[in-house]
Amino acid sequence: MFQRCGFADAGAELQDADYVVVGLPFDATASFRSGSRDGPDAIRLASFNFESYDHYFDVDLAELAICDLGNMDLGAEPAYADATIKDGIALLPKSAVPIFLGGEHSITPPIVENLDRRKAPGNLGVLVLDAHLDLRAEYGCTSYSHACASRRILEKKGVGAYASIGIRSGCKEEFTFAKENKITYFTAHDVLEKGIDYVLDQALESLNCERIYLSIDLDALDPAFAPAVGNPEPFGLTSWDVLRVIERAAQRAVGLDINELTPAYDRGETALLAARLARVFIAAKAKYQMH
Ligand code: MN
Ligand code: MN
Repeated sequence: MFQRCGFADAGAELQDADYVVVGLPFDATASFRSGSRDGPDAIRLASFNFESYDHYFDVDLAELAICDLGNMDLGAEPAYADATIKDGIALLPKSAVPIFLGGEHSITPPIVENLDRRKAPGNLGVLVLDAHLDLRAEYGCTSYSHACASRRILEKKGVGAYASIGIRSGCKEEFTFAKENKITYFTAHDVLEKGIDYVLDQALESLNCERIYLSIDLDALDPAFAPAVGNPEPFGLTSWDVLRVIERAAQRAVGLDINELTPAYDRGETALLAARLARVFIAAKAKYQMH
């Protein structure tokens, strides 16, 4: 009679969970539109729009052990939020696959630093979908800025490989840094010209990792599909492109984050897309685990 709050179909207790949903409501370094701190709850609310049964993967999410832990209390200070996320990751059960709901993109570096700590270092590949290179050394007087997310990811010891898809924005220094450091990225033009499957083949080949962490900055999508993001950038990926990445990367994925949703700029469609992408990720992972 009473429906639990949280992500739809997330009725499992933590100790039994195969999938753990965690909200990271932090947006203190937002550089254009703020409000992504409200992202996690908007995605949860939107998740109730969908059937529990995913017909494409023939998986019923209501039959899976999904636990929603709620939101971490991250405050408004970037260094504090970063440290708190690291501490929080350590409390997650090692057998469960985490799905992090942002929050801005600065949530990702502390996740990838600690997520795979049980395994041999350098064995985790990070695949980022983003319009932006996020390779600045610092921005707005902080190295924790969301504009530095990929730069910080690359510095983490546990990360052995990195690739990004959907790129169409960055300052000249960032593109020079990417070139000088041979950083693998694929532009939105690449995806348009060669197709997402070809680009993803190349990205996965370059990552060459058994285990992948997937970080989706929703501004990778064209604003026509995902208008409510912190830094909308035209000429982006389609929702089909991103769906395809999740469908194909889920098997090897050890975790996912979906970040940069700013609900105040939404008529609901961006939150719905984010929720659906999270559900597809869970369904795809469950499908591969069953067979
Ligand atoms: Mn980003
Ligand atoms: Mn971005």
